[in-house]
Amino acid sequence: MMNFSYARAESVAEAISAVSGDPHAHYIAGGTNLVDLMKYDVERPGRLVDITRLPLREITATAGGGLRIGALVPNSDLAYDPRVERDYPLLASAILAGASAQLRNAATTGGNLLQRTRCYYFYDVQTPCNKRAPGTGCGAIGGVNRIHAILGASEGCIATHPSDMCVALAALEAVVHVAGPGGERTIAFEDFHRLPGDRPEADNTLQHGELITAVELPAPRFGPHHTYLKLRDRLSYAFALVSVAAGLELDGDTIRDARVALGGVAHKPWRVPEAEALLRGQKPSREAFGAAADRLLQGARGQGDNDFKIELARRAIVRALEQAAAATPQRQSDKSIN
Ligand SMILES: Cc1cc2nc3c(=O)[nH]c(=O)nc-3n(C[C@H](O)[C@H](O)[C@H](O)COP(=O)(O)OP(=O)(O)OC[C@H]3O[C@@H](n4cnc5c(N)ncnc54)[C@H](O)[C@@H]3O)c2cc1C
Ligand code: SF4
Repeated sequence: MMNFSYARAESVAEAISAVSGDPHAHYIAGGTNLVDLMKYDVERPGRLVDITRLPLREITATAGGGLRIGALVPNSDLAYDPRVERDYPLLASAILAGASAQLRNAATTGGNLLQRTRCYYFYDVQTPCNKRAPGTGCGAIGGVNRIHAILGASEGCIATHPSDMCVALAALEAVVHVAGPGGERTIAFEDFHRLPGDRPEADNTLQHGELITAVELPAPRFGPHHTYLKLRDRLSYAFALVSVAAGLELDGDTIRDARVALGGVAHKPWRVPEAEALLRGQKPSREAFGAAADRLLQGARGQGDNDFKIELARRAIVRALEQAAAATPQRQSDKSIN
């Protein structure tokens, strides 16, 4: 039996005060990850602060021509918002590649950023895991590690971040708006999630009690030259082994700028600005895309079961960039069940 108290916050200030004042308190939004973690005994919050009634459900236009997405906007509403479908199809496509329709209806924008790794050992409390229980070791190193990281891992943790939406947000260079006991701040998306290093228990740079209030997208770019390519063991209801969010800006047949982010390969969405720089001024070609892929994957290292991911990622990057260049983005196979 796990005892915890439950309270529904009526304002942002009330929510922040309730969680920041109690080290064992957690926010709960859609509950699609946190409740599972509680059932597996991975998370044992003493207090749940329900934020679902807070006024954070709007998607509004920003002065800079972008969109501000409230932290409680459900993943489905976001993917099917006409402005997102028209101006940020890369984001819509990534969201629809994840989970199931029912889960996307419940899952929120803020919760998606904070979902935890799907490492099998993290969920199995009988096994060592530095992320769940710091200092106990890592069951995945030398264990079953087909889904684990090939980039940015540490000697303490080789987990990956499981989100699809976050890979698109990384390529789109979103900004996360946060409110906490010390006031409000913004965090560039690339600085939001972190690599495991010697503190694998920390997935991101939020402080305890800080609440995500919104995610902001800059003005749209890439036009039709984008794609979200997700490779996984099953065509629906499975997390990415490797995914690629790619966007290109073309001047005629020359690449003016590029953004490429990888999912399923590291503890955070993986971007390498030098790889994007290699594409600038190039004509779209398999050679140019291969060189960018090699730079993105520089230093990649398998752990045994996941060695295949290095070549899979290389091919996926080249294919995604070809799709983006040709303006033939990957279509999700079935939006209703995927
Ligand atoms: C079977 C299954 C398959 C899935 N497949 C995929 C997939 O293929 N791709 C994918 O991307 N995702 C997938 N998901 C994950 C799903 O997208 C996440 O569970 C969901 O986005 C989490 O959102 P939530 O609102 O339910 O978060 P919750 O479970 O409510 O919260 C998750 C965490 O975020 C914190 N939190 C929530 N909101 C805030 C906030 N505003 N500020 C601060 N902290 C907050 C909570 O305290 C908690 O720690 C899958 C989930 C399941 C169960
Ligand atoms: S990879 Fe990370 S999450 Fe998985 S067992 Fe090792 S420490 Fe835990």
